[in-house]
Amino acid sequence: MNCIICSNNTKEIKKDTHRCNSCGHVFRDFQGDSIEFHKETYRNKNHQKWKKDQNEFNEDGSVNGRFHEARKGIVTSRINKISHVLADRRSIFDIGSGAGTLAMHMQSFTSDIECLELADTLVNESRRLGFTTHQSDFLEFVPNRRFDLVTCYHVLEHVKDLNAFLDKLDEVSSEYVVFEVPTLKCYFGTSPKERRWEPPNNGHYDGHYHYFTIKSLATLFMGRYEITTIESGTQSPAILFIGKKI
Ligand SMILES: [Zn+2]
Repeated sequence: MNCIICSNNTKEIKKDTHRCNSCGHVFRDFQGDSIEFHKETYRNKNHQKWKKDQNEFNEDGSVNGRFHEARKGIVTSRINKISHVLADRRSIFDIGSGAGTLAMHMQSFTSDIECLELADTLVNESRRLGFTTHQSDFLEFVPNRRFDLVTCYHVLEHVKDLNAFLDKLDEVSSEYVVFEVPTLKCYFGTSPKERRWEPPNNGHYDGHYHYFTIKSLATLFMGRYEITTIESGTQSPAILFIGKKI
């Protein structure tokens, strides 16, 4: 197959896993429905991750304070990295907003924040916190306004059709966009950590269709957003991309 980012030749490096010879982008050809996978399997009560985090949920499945507390370090770091962009923004749209933890911490910059999330428990908590929260797959979302900052942390790697995502992004963004994506290794010399991963269809899938490189992420946004920052993300190894709409 050809690279879905830059159309150059790819090589199959593991089963159903293709790496671009030019931009290095890794595409994993998962055969199932990744949205369903993420919503039902990854956050399922019987899933290992849920068990690990169960003290963050009440008996009835609702989110409790420990959920936000556990993410405080991450969101504080995220905000520190983008504070120069947050400073003058009047409206924010957070895609894949979880229980609204990041939104809560961005409220000191503006009160005009809307969220988009899929999972019921997280949507409920986000709404309880007072945020207008759209429960929708972003690709099916019908926006009725634009925001001068769109944030999107650890979502893009789960989206098969990246160009459809960027088309939708154009409908909702008016100025800055912030994306963080996990990578297989750190490209900034700040972490020796490498991500362990398996072929997508062998039962150990992590829901990631994509593993970006600096080049593939920059190429994806090319012609739509001018790069203002590309640096190491908070949840390293990861890339943080800040772009300004062209
Ligand atoms: Zn490529």
